[in-house]
Amino acid sequence: MTASAARTIACGFCAREFVEDQGQPVCRSCPLTGVCRMARCPHCGYENAVVPAWLERLTRGASDT
Ligand SMILES: [Zn+2]
Repeated sequence: MTASAARTIACGFCAREFVEDQGQPVCRSCPLTGVCRMARCPHCGYENAVVPAWLERLTRGASDT
């Protein structure tokens, strides 16, 4: 079983997976705070772009009812 609340992200650099909550916010000082969403991999520090839920639904296609 997987927790539905926590999404996992596959790191684009080291290919390891981590829970989105474990991603370190890298844009604390970024003026786009709240707009850009980056999750830093806790394993290697690579900054992964987090796909918003609404965009993820778009890319998957609205096939699930
Ligand atoms: Zn990584």
